[in-house]
Amino acid sequence: TQTSRIDKLLSNMGYGSRTEIGRLAQAGGIVLDGVDVADVSKRIPVTPDLSQRMQIDGAPLDPPPGLVLLLNKPLGMTCSHKEDGALVHDVLPDRWRRRDPAISTIGRLDKDTSGLLLLTDDGDFLHRVISPRRHVAKVYRATLARPLAGTEGALFASGELMLEGEAKPLAPAELEIITPTEARLTVTEGRYHQVRRMFAAVGNHVEALHRERVGGLTLPDDLEPGQWRLLAPDEAARVF
Ligand code: URA
Repeated sequence: TQTSRIDKLLSNMGYGSRTEIGRLAQAGGIVLDGVDVADVSKRIPVTPDLSQRMQIDGAPLDPPPGLVLLLNKPLGMTCSHKEDGALVHDVLPDRWRRRDPAISTIGRLDKDTSGLLLLTDDGDFLHRVISPRRHVAKVYRATLARPLAGTEGALFASGELMLEGEAKPLAPAELEIITPTEARLTVTEGRYHQVRRMFAAVGNHVEALHRERVGGLTLPDDLEPGQWRLLAPDEAARVF
């Protein structure tokens, strides 16, 4: 477990400058385990339970560093500052967008893809999820412009499908046909526009794309587009 000075921790969590944190403590605005914090230079262990044990101006502390969020990404939002459109980060409270380490998306979904998107400030966790060596399954539901021919599943499963402009064939992927124009596709890689390009490679076109699952995490039915929630550590671990 890492330790941090209280003022540095709170400042990095977006609560203000260290000077402001010091003033807040003087005013009795920081409480830890029921006791007013007087000395903000004190080092404390940074553990998830701090958001139950510490109050700032009477409100529970935001989740300390090492958080994982699950978002139901709405259509029309982008994961990258380089594209046009509202950013998925804009769904987070202001203070959460000022954090260091910053909260970033684990991989990306296209602007016109909806569904399960994870965000984290934990670089190790992020890299474990996106590492192709770990084979974390990503499950998508695709709506197609044309009926499936019936041969796509075998090709996707073969491990021999080449995407245009790439040097390495795709790892085997699993296709489950739902209706002639709807399918569920499970992939373990995260190549650029992978699902859309896979269906393009078999002469089809993806009209709608929704991610239902990442590893052992499924998008909850009651999470509306644009809504997100903090995952408990044991929930986040279900990715693997
Ligand atoms: N594959 C795509 O083509 N788009 C996504 O957003 C995710 C996977």
